[in-house]
Amino acid sequence: MNVNQSAPPLPPFGQSQPVYPGYHPSSYGGQPGSTAPPTPYGAYNGPVPGCQQTPPPGVSRAPPSSEAPPASTAQAPSGQAAYGQFGQGDVQNGPSSTVQMQRFPGSQPFGSIPLAPVVSQPTVLQPYGPPPTSAQVTAQLAGMQISGAVAPALPPVGLGYGPPTSLASASGSFPNSGLYGSYPQGQAPPLSQAQGHLGAQPPQRSAPPQASSFTSPASGGPRMPSMTGPLLSGQGFGGPSLSQPNHVSSPPPQALPPGTQMTGPPGPPPPMHSSQQPGYQLQQNGSFGPARGPQPNYGSSYPGAPTFGSQPGPPQPLPPKRLDPDAIPSPIQVIEDDRNNRGSEPFVTGVRGQVPPLVTTNFLVKDQGNASPRYIRCTSYNIPCTSDMAKQAQVPLAAVIKPLARLPPEEASPYVVDHGESGPLRCNRCKAYMCPFMQFVEGGRRFQCCFCSCINDVPPQYFQHLDHTGKRVDAYDRPELSLGSYEFLATVDYCKNNKFPSPPAFIFMIDVSYNAIRSGLVRLLCEELKSLLDFLPREGGAEESAIRVGFVTYNKVLHFYNVKSSLAQPQMMVVSDVADMFVPLLDGFLVNVSESRAVITSLLDQIPEMFADTRETETVFAPVIQAGMEALKAAECAGKLFLFHTSLPIAEAPGKLKNRDDRKLINTDKEKTLFQPQTGAYQTLAKECVAQGCCVDLFLFPNQYVDVATLSVVPQLTGGSVYKYACFQVENDQERFLSDLRRDVQKVVGFDAVMRVRTSTGIRAVDFFGAFYMSNTTDVELAGLDGDKTVTVEFKHDDRLNEESGALLQCALLYTSCAGQRRLRIHNLALNCCTQLADLYRNCETDTLINYMAKFAYRGVLNSPVKTVRDTLITQCAQILACYRKNCASPSSAGQLILPECMKLLPVYLNCVLKSDVLQPGAEVTTDDRAYVRQLVTSMDVAETNVFFYPRLLPLTKSPIESATEPPAVRASEERLSNGDIYLLENGLNLFLWVGASVQQGVVQSLFSVSSFSQITSGLSVLPVLDNPLSKKVRGLIDSLRAQRSRYMKLIVVKQEDKLEMLFKHFLVEDKSLSGGASYVDFLCHMHKEIRQLLS
Ligand SMILES: [Zn+2]
Repeated sequence: MNVNQSAPPLPPFGQSQPVYPGYHPSSYGGQPGSTAPPTPYGAYNGPVPGCQQTPPPGVSRAPPSSEAPPASTAQAPSGQAAYGQFGQGDVQNGPSSTVQMQRFPGSQPFGSIPLAPVVSQPTVLQPYGPPPTSAQVTAQLAGMQISGAVAPALPPVGLGYGPPTSLASASGSFPNSGLYGSYPQGQAPPLSQAQGHLGAQPPQRSAPPQASSFTSPASGGPRMPSMTGPLLSGQGFGGPSLSQPNHVSSPPPQALPPGTQMTGPPGPPPPMHSSQQPGYQLQQNGSFGPARGPQPNYGSSYPGAPTFGSQPGPPQPLPPKRLDPDAIPSPIQVIEDDRNNRGSEPFVTGVRGQVPPLVTTNFLVKDQGNASPRYIRCTSYNIPCTSDMAKQAQVPLAAVIKPLARLPPEEASPYVVDHGESGPLRCNRCKAYMCPFMQFVEGGRRFQCCFCSCINDVPPQYFQHLDHTGKRVDAYDRPELSLGSYEFLATVDYCKNNKFPSPPAFIFMIDVSYNAIRSGLVRLLCEELKSLLDFLPREGGAEESAIRVGFVTYNKVLHFYNVKSSLAQPQMMVVSDVADMFVPLLDGFLVNVSESRAVITSLLDQIPEMFADTRETETVFAPVIQAGMEALKAAECAGKLFLFHTSLPIAEAPGKLKNRDDRKLINTDKEKTLFQPQTGAYQTLAKECVAQGCCVDLFLFPNQYVDVATLSVVPQLTGGSVYKYACFQVENDQERFLSDLRRDVQKVVGFDAVMRVRTSTGIRAVDFFGAFYMSNTTDVELAGLDGDKTVTVEFKHDDRLNEESGALLQCALLYTSCAGQRRLRIHNLALNCCTQLADLYRNCETDTLINYMAKFAYRGVLNSPVKTVRDTLITQCAQILACYRKNCASPSSAGQLILPECMKLLPVYLNCVLKSDVLQPGAEVTTDDRAYVRQLVTSMDVAETNVFFYPRLLPLTKSPIESATEPPAVRASEERLSNGDIYLLENGLNLFLWVGASVQQGVVQSLFSVSSFSQITSGLSVLPVLDNPLSKKVRGLIDSLRAQRSRYMKLIVVKQEDKLEMLFKHFLVEDKSLSGGASYVDFLCHMHKEIRQLLS
């Protein structure tokens, strides 16, 4: 039957429908007697969590039925406009009539998942996945003496890199380097990390004394196919990338004495992977290659090496044995393989438990019943059936959810379903929303909830017959029965005070103290706002935005502006009693832009002049937020405050702060205080803001310490964003600031939101990470939520799961749209469950795991010493890998490091988290930088954490200039840099252009319009616009990288051997870091040691 031709058997969705029996919209609050704490959305809370766990007496889960439809592979003709009828009742919110939905009804087993037999072999669902092979890094690790004691202490920072003072001057000389802009007065304190194995060692202590201390590779067992490679001492060291003269103080590369080499049988040289990466070996399943000598420039030993040097005697300049970096799992290779294997086919979400392509792969998504990975990504798509298994594996079960994620233009936004006055259909018991996994029974008169098994009556107006497979015949005409993601129009029951909301408002609150005026910020901002106000978020085809705007300026006092359209000139009202903030005017403060345009323009022209001669340097902060929140409250609407602030608020007022920055606390038990707010006043304020639906976005322009940890509390708890421009100067930073501002003001936001994640029986959401507020244990309250923000949810078992029925997640976000419409966005995801640990390890996603682990750690530093947090991460990672080794890998020698295929990058990525600025800061990283990054990462999605922790390094002159695609990336290590080439490095926040000292003169001329390398201006942030292919290509690539990220990345040109190079090298994360962070190779050895200890 062609669904398009069948007349809808139901009244139009927009039509009001009678309340059906047994269904009480007013009882959304769950059963009477529910102990859920009251909130403005009490009605939304549903029952207490316990209610989900056991069915009520008399209601039992239906037994598995043999009537379940077999999953057919037949596909309906594509191009059916299946949702045509949805548009009839609701033109504005319905699907575009041009959108053609493809239907694959036969391949959608989700409708019957609770009852249908389930394919329990996830490999079947993983077209790209190899068989359960392991990544084995055996030979070298077998031989590495990695059981040594941890290093007692670190040498001073900068071992082999020059004294720390040069580092300070490097960053100090570049105050506007973006995220890492140090303040001029910043001093580089001595670093005294004593963090065990990750410490650098003086090279002379690192030499292994005897070859005999290495296990013979033969003892590694028979499963060492790639051990047949040759010894590569010195091989591959002749290239220009390895003979950079810029580390004169580091020990010269040395060939290993023969005795210390691995003694694997000689064999042919490994195949070259590509001509662009000399020495880069083909890797399959992460298998290892031969050992080779030490990396030049990194003469100090790997961690754990001190035992080698324990014998007294003259320091031996023997470098340590090293793993061949080409032989260990490569992020670049994994990313490349996934692109090649999964980038061409759309990801169709109809099958339960499918692992999506990596976030670094470009792919299209077809929603066939599960939420797109753009909305939800999980650490594993196959969950252990029991909590014992989960504890054994230690793999966190978490979902990274981005409810309002933006989609590429090729993918349709979620359809809006309008059930009229009766509102969305829900389970009476657990309050889950109608979704494709609900099972209709009794000829369609009732449905069984897929989350709590409760049998519910189908209201008459929603009734539909079932086909022979038990599926409703209208299933494909209804988004809520066939798609993973969709929206419901909310009824008044879902609104605060049972009243439909007013459109939200934006209030711009501008610091006009001396620093803000002097830097040119105020003038720049006012000029920009004049045009930017035309681009406030709009919905659908609306001609103009429904959002009203208001303006406040402040220093020690606040100035409110009446910009009513009837006025000839704006009027200012000063409130100097900041201790008791009130809003001096209601009428004329929040206005429609087009109506009041003349007055607003006049105001924005006058503000820079009015304060041009100010001498006021002190500012208040909390009263500003208070004022904005009170104004929204008075206007009875939700909204967003845009604060533009320059300094530590030391003026006498609530929320007054003092400078408490103290770098001496780093690596002490008190380090956590640097991340904690210095007063509780901001939490209290944030709570009030959340209750009002007042989201705060903070733009900071500090010249010195401003206590980001405290100032960011309100943005963090209200779902807002923080932007930081250290030592802001208009000429250097306006592009970055204006670009961020434009994007921030224009982005679509959901206001006054509550998110709830429901799960099927057996697991439940227990922990949440992100920018939000929680007043109970289940409801994530978001004053605002935009398309960049994610909420990460961790799940724990509370019962046994069932392989057949799997596990279900339903994320429901109730929010007010930019036009003031109250809506519910629903995302559903079905996961597999397993009784074999191998199935868990086969269906993990390392990028998501790292996202979760980073957030877990970054929250941990608020309460625990940083070293404890780091150790916890390492232990967990070792346990994950040891469990795999013990339970899933084929028997082999203990000397082998065996990594699950899906997790072979876990060590390298985890190491990047461990040595990130929050967990192991370098001398150039300020306390504010750390607090800033900490709160940024909290809301990052998986793609953002992926590139943030492991930056992308792109060689620019290797690929043909004509090539339209991005050049293939290389690994983030100095060893991969050729001094004859130019590279771009980006991590989502920073963007560097590194120029090798031997780059061809023609290239220099084409890009920089100067005749030689020495004439290139170090620190340049804009490339000249030149009319030649190379210049166009590089500038185009920079634009494209920026377009991919949610924040503008300012370019910094770094010349090889220039002092700015220190900043750049901070991002070469496979190398040992200046702050003592281990190199990838060293960390892998350490991880292997930890795993062996767990297994022994
Ligand atoms: Zn239910």
